[in-house]
Amino acid sequence: MPKTWYFKGGIHPQENKNTADHESVTMPIPKRVILPLRQHIGAICEPTVEVGDQVFVGQVVADSTATISVPIHASVSGKVVGLENIPNATGKPMPAMVIESDGLQTPDPAIAPITTRDPDELIKAIRDSGLVGLGGAGFPTWFKLKPPPGDKLDLLLINGAECESYITSDYREMIENSPGVIRGIKLVLHILGIDRAIIGVEDNKQIGIDRLIKACNDEPQISVIPLKTRYPQGGEKQLIYALTGRRVPSGGLPSAVGVLVLSINTISFIDEYVTTGMPLVKRRVTVDGDCVRNPKNVWVPVGTPIADVFEFCGGFKEPPDKLIMGGPMMGVTQYSLKNSVLKQTNALLAMTSRFDRTRDEYACLRCGKCADACPMRLQPWRMNADIRIREFERARELHLLDCIECGCCSYVCPSQIHLVQTFRLGKAELQKLRKKEKN
Ligand code: SF4
Ligand code: SF4
Repeated sequence: MPKTWYFKGGIHPQENKNTADHESVTMPIPKRVILPLRQHIGAICEPTVEVGDQVFVGQVVADSTATISVPIHASVSGKVVGLENIPNATGKPMPAMVIESDGLQTPDPAIAPITTRDPDELIKAIRDSGLVGLGGAGFPTWFKLKPPPGDKLDLLLINGAECESYITSDYREMIENSPGVIRGIKLVLHILGIDRAIIGVEDNKQIGIDRLIKACNDEPQISVIPLKTRYPQGGEKQLIYALTGRRVPSGGLPSAVGVLVLSINTISFIDEYVTTGMPLVKRRVTVDGDCVRNPKNVWVPVGTPIADVFEFCGGFKEPPDKLIMGGPMMGVTQYSLKNSVLKQTNALLAMTSRFDRTRDEYACLRCGKCADACPMRLQPWRMNADIRIREFERARELHLLDCIECGCCSYVCPSQIHLVQTFRLGKAELQKLRKKEKN
């Protein structure tokens, strides 16, 4: 058994992987899709088609010339019926394109398999595919394939931890398409010009581990390593430490320690895209929560209103108190069923108030439980105290910007202090201060 390291801190919430043995199903094509023109970290895209235009599945409908961005593609064939500002998942206005489906799902005739094996051309093709990190972060994948000058990669890590409760989207990919995962890894190793990959999977996913081991039986450059089930094992820095013992420096990228991390669904999409040429137009979404009548793993066209997805899963047993896009720890609460599934949406949860941990806050007890649980070795109680008296620079000196917003501190706090919200506020204030300094 290869050596692994245990990151300090973390928690083990109830796993609730209720859909782990549910084979993925495909939902019917929605009547219309709403495509926000930014579904990634980076610049917003400009429309490349107009209202009234006919579009085909996989056709580019918006793109940007900015350094960090990826194009957006039509996920249904049909007619563009609107370009409008809609509130995005966090409530901020965001330009979005509305496409009414013709129900035919006619693919863009220009789509063809990617035949080049030139690394630079493959990176460009991966940009053209619109791929972003499908583990939830949404960072353009092509950009990660080009490490900053001076950083030399020697290891590809595949993140199969899927440590958030409920979510089983990566796990189903391991079970249903492990050869695709391995082909994707071989392609990325070729692009990077390196010869070593490790797939890290939490040890609560035994069938997935077995399938991957079998699929890479003849691939000595790829190994599968089971990891202790512990949240946030899938955090990039935690995963890198667990699998290699390397520590990413404060404020640094994984490439600073020679590592590139991609998620299971991201790597297998690369294989699928190269084989078919079809860009990123659908997502496997885990639909679960105590309000959902029939929890499932569902293939969903990007841009589908979340109401349609819940409807496909039998609707609600009782009115939900909370809708979450992503996992219960790091997901984003949705205020409307009209919001749509994004490229990086890996889960939709509908919960009753029985699962709501938001309570009135009490005074800090200085018990230190938050510091014990913090996987980034921060002192949450001290940062919280500083931010609340608007001492943002002092919080920064305590490495506020290294906080990954995992929520472990809030989860264990006996005083129910809203620590993560405070840290988000503190980061936003620091950003404002930086902007002011620049002007
Ligand atoms: S949210 Fe931030 S401070 Fe709290 S445990 Fe996670 S990394 Fe540490
Ligand atoms: S866990 Fe809560 S009460 Fe305890 S030190 Fe941290 S913030 Fe204070």
